[in-house]
Amino acid sequence: MPSRRQAFLVSRKLPWIAGVLVAGGVWTVLQSFIWLEQDRRNQAERAVLQAEAATVRARLESELNATLSLSLGLSTFVLAKPDFSQADLVRVAASLIRLQPAIRSVALAPDNVIRHIYPLAGNQKALGLRYLETPTQRDAVLRLMREQRPVTAGPIELVQGGVGIINRIPIIFTRPDGSPHYWGLASVAINPYPVFERAGIRTDPAGAVRYALRGRDGLGAQGEVFLGEAGLFKDPDAVLMDVVIPGGRWQLAARALAPADGYGLWMQALLVLLAAGAGTLTAYSLLVHQRIRSMALHDHLTGLANRHQFKLRGQDMFALARRNGCRLTLLNIDIDDFKTINDTYGHAAGDAVLVHVANTLRTCCRESDLLARVGGDEFVVLLPNTPAGPPLGALLDRLQAEMDVAVPGTDTSIKLRISVGVAACSDATPSLDALMSHADEAMYRAKDTSRPQPD
Ligand code: GH3
Ligand code: MG
Repeated sequence: MPSRRQAFLVSRKLPWIAGVLVAGGVWTVLQSFIWLEQDRRNQAERAVLQAEAATVRARLESELNATLSLSLGLSTFVLAKPDFSQADLVRVAASLIRLQPAIRSVALAPDNVIRHIYPLAGNQKALGLRYLETPTQRDAVLRLMREQRPVTAGPIELVQGGVGIINRIPIIFTRPDGSPHYWGLASVAINPYPVFERAGIRTDPAGAVRYALRGRDGLGAQGEVFLGEAGLFKDPDAVLMDVVIPGGRWQLAARALAPADGYGLWMQALLVLLAAGAGTLTAYSLLVHQRIRSMALHDHLTGLANRHQFKLRGQDMFALARRNGCRLTLLNIDIDDFKTINDTYGHAAGDAVLVHVANTLRTCCRESDLLARVGGDEFVVLLPNTPAGPPLGALLDRLQAEMDVAVPGTDTSIKLRISVGVAACSDATPSLDALMSHADEAMYRAKDTSRPQPD
């Protein structure tokens, strides 16, 4: 069983424990709201990012499909006029370039060898290029011949210099017997950077969204990264989407740059303040409550139980004692000539004497005894399991012996005299009040006996 002191210490800590728990609870609830809000904001930002990436994808697809339609135009030109002259080609190519300024060059490669290119200036190096003997282009051309549909190659380093996305389209004649005849291919090389820019892709750090593209030669997620940081494809915050291009696909990765979280620290500080405030308020109100309760149940001078608490707890002890055979004794203790102490040494000294008496009772009695100050200089002690007999006699002797008190502020030590009335509970004691009045009467009898008799 915890001692009186331990119970007191625990009860002193309780308001602070409750304060810490409330502060923790308030912090958790508020923090959950912030987490929920952050989650909602992240989802909204992701939706915006998704929409932006979808716009970029749509623009890229439309740019590359537009290039395809130009290659188709070139293929149609060859199919319609297989014996075209260089001047015919220049006319057609020039008009294509007017439609799509990003075009670097257009070329025709009968039997997979580039024989015609426009503009010639700056592109001469490509003339005579044999695709099937050029390792960087061979696979894409073989795929085009195999699949007999347009293929987007690159971006690659062009033989004539610079980087290009090349849209190649097979040119297939139909023989009189209906069988196909592979003539060669038409290709349109475009400068990829204006295309990326028009699609809204910015790779410089100033952009709010970072982009990366992979899938060189239309190989999708398996193809090489050719624009932006490769790490973006593994970033869990990035949005990935396929870009369908003629003859294959690219993969686009987009990630919003983390916005400066200016409110984060302030919000955390505010949260801690609110939680600490709620905790302190709880601890404070519990302390006040405890104090009011303690004032209602304790004598403020000595800290002993007051009459009210004595009655409450005493009733229970009395009832228990009655059930267990009534081994309960009540002492009523009154200081003799206390008024004289007050008058001689002052009221403060009188108070100190009262505190001394209370402390002496605490030292001499057991933890299970109920001690109370019930009047000016009147104390009561309820002793459970203590019938009249030697142990009780020893306690009374010890009490009388311990009543030496040093008067505060003086060198004087006085021997206090106390009168003790003893009442033992019996089957004939109907109530605690009756026990108290028996002890009271006994105390007065003791006082009368101890008073010096007039001569
Ligand atoms: P008796 O021997 O018959 O007991 O006489 P007494 O002088 O002790 O007087 P009594 O017990 O009748 O009265 C108690 C006195 O205690 C009355 C009052 O002035 C004084 N007193 C009551 N409460 C306090 C207190 O809180 N502090 C001080 N210093 N004195 C108190
Ligand atoms: Mg007295």
